[in-house]
Amino acid sequence: MRTPLPRILSTLCAACLPLLANPISAAERPKPGPDDVAVLIATDHTRPGDYSEASNGAEGRERDYIDPAADYLADALRAHGLTVKIARVEEQLPVARIANKTDFDSAYAAYDELLRSAVRAGSTIVALHFDADRLPPEASLADAEYIGGAQIIVDDRSLSPGTKTLTKQLLVQDKILQTLARQGARLRPDYTDKLRMQKNQTLYIAGNSSGGAFLLELAPQQQAREQFGNPQQVARALSPALDQLAEAIARFRSAQP
Ligand SMILES: [Zn+2]
Repeated sequence: MRTPLPRILSTLCAACLPLLANPISAAERPKPGPDDVAVLIATDHTRPGDYSEASNGAEGRERDYIDPAADYLADALRAHGLTVKIARVEEQLPVARIANKTDFDSAYAAYDELLRSAVRAGSTIVALHFDADRLPPEASLADAEYIGGAQIIVDDRSLSPGTKTLTKQLLVQDKILQTLARQGARLRPDYTDKLRMQKNQTLYIAGNSSGGAFLLELAPQQQAREQFGNPQQVARALSPALDQLAEAIARFRSAQP
């Protein structure tokens, strides 16, 4: 995945692809495991309705907004020939939902293990989030102690060279945050052109990956809803930035030694 070949293949017409197909049938081919994933999209939070320890994020339903954006980004990355997996904490359990603390603890333990396997594979790890709009929630923007917004976050306990290079590229060269702002997302004040450092469990593990890792707050969740509508409409509104992000990650990975 570090050669430009997958990107070349992705530009070929669909009719040409059978000529390049592996002669082994799909059923005989080994299923891609975490070791084969170029990009892992981490969704981090629990779903609304699952047992939660303040893990359900903004307004208790951040996953409602993250999931359509993660699906969109995954498709955009695949269009560049990259293999992608979306990590969802509830899918780490054999049961349908996280019902209690035992489920919760084992789901997050398995989730962290999935992140570690992605680090071992040199995957690029993207944690997608929506930020709190403001804190306290009832404050005006002028009075708020915290004004949320689109931002790129890393954890300075885990900064691989890949993480440093990729996040600098996204911030300075590609200007992903400015694309989000053009689409209408408010940027986090004071972090419109620099990384935010924050202790975060996903980044603590993922930031060591040679493929780079970062957390992207796509927008303040409430502001995005008021401006764009439901979670699907939000993902659609932010899709130019997600397309740009996918292209930027593909370019970064193909430039890796
Ligand atoms: Zn979040």
